[in-house]
Amino acid sequence: MNIEHPENDKKYLGLQVNSGVTSQPTVNPYRRARAKSIPQLTAGEYVEGIIKGDVSVLGRAVTLVESTSERHHALAQEVIEKCLPYSGKSRRIGITGVPGAGKSTSIDAFGLHVIREGHRLAVLAIDPSSERTKGSILGDKTRMEKLSQNNDAFIRPSPSAGSLGGVARKTRETIVLCEAAGYDRIFVETVGVGQSETAVHSMVDFFLLIQLAGTGDELQGIKRGIMEMADGIVINKCDGDNIDRAKLAAAQFRNALHLFPPTPSKWVPEVLTYSGYFELGIAEVWDMIDRYFEHAIKTGYFDLKRMEQEKYWMIETIDEKLKESFYQMPEVAALLEQKELRVLNNEQSSFTAARDVLDFYFERIRSK
Ligand code: GDP
Repeated sequence: MNIEHPENDKKYLGLQVNSGVTSQPTVNPYRRARAKSIPQLTAGEYVEGIIKGDVSVLGRAVTLVESTSERHHALAQEVIEKCLPYSGKSRRIGITGVPGAGKSTSIDAFGLHVIREGHRLAVLAIDPSSERTKGSILGDKTRMEKLSQNNDAFIRPSPSAGSLGGVARKTRETIVLCEAAGYDRIFVETVGVGQSETAVHSMVDFFLLIQLAGTGDELQGIKRGIMEMADGIVINKCDGDNIDRAKLAAAQFRNALHLFPPTPSKWVPEVLTYSGYFELGIAEVWDMIDRYFEHAIKTGYFDLKRMEQEKYWMIETIDEKLKESFYQMPEVAALLEQKELRVLNNEQSSFTAARDVLDFYFERIRSK
């Protein structure tokens, strides 16, 4: 009997297994070890390069900010602090929409429009799902064909590691670096399906919601939370035989918006139609956004919102750091596991278990 392939035994008529070839090793033994990471610059060198608008230094600084290594953290913070005085002078625009709404096509078109107006544009992204996939397609250069070839555009995909709060904070820090490098228009892209819009909303001046006609969303109102955050709603793909439907959807959105309470900015969100693909109505969308900025700057809402955002991020960062400090303490993790079992077995209430773990943590911190 053939030991390797018992199926080839004569008693199994009609079954024939070929011996095949041995599979190749998955690791190429001849491949040289990865080059050691490029030596780091000093904080001063990073800042100097960024302020000069050196894109390669900016890119490396963003990588530093995104790094999860404790070693890079202090340096990254120093670079950000030093860039702060040069930041803040841009218009930050959040762009959201469900997958397929045409975000990348539209960002390409909107981006070229603002560059033609003489601005420099940074496109960043927040994609919480990238934590799982280890890499994000949002803000990906390959999706923005025209912009990616333009020297006045800096495109960066979503940071991929950490919680939504952590990912969002890194994007916010990247905004600071981009502004210091002279980018005066910042787009922050996100997918309109979860919590990430709230994070984006808390770091932009204007929030643009891209919608499609006829997806039923406008009737089901499932995007209500997002609609309330939107300063502008734009219906994409208003081209070909979709024009009437897009116009109808715009009318429906306008009606729906009437039911919402006035916004804190006193700005009445507008609804427009356009085609990102055919580049129709782009200037009109941008005029609307410019009108918003005029209004917000004149009424003082622009500064007020930015200050509110600063406060929000301070608290958010404290939250994040406290949680990190708590959950990353190995003894806490071990105790949590024990307590979980006790709670599951009804040996202890969840409240007293939580109190025990917290007491243990605070005791540890005090004795440090
Ligand atoms: P994203 O997932 O939101 O980034 O959407 P994409 O920009 O990748 O667009 C999704 C699909 O819609 C692509 O096949 C685009 O070519 C198409 N699309 C985007 N904008 C338009 C538009 O204005 N008109 C039409 N007809 N198709 C569009």
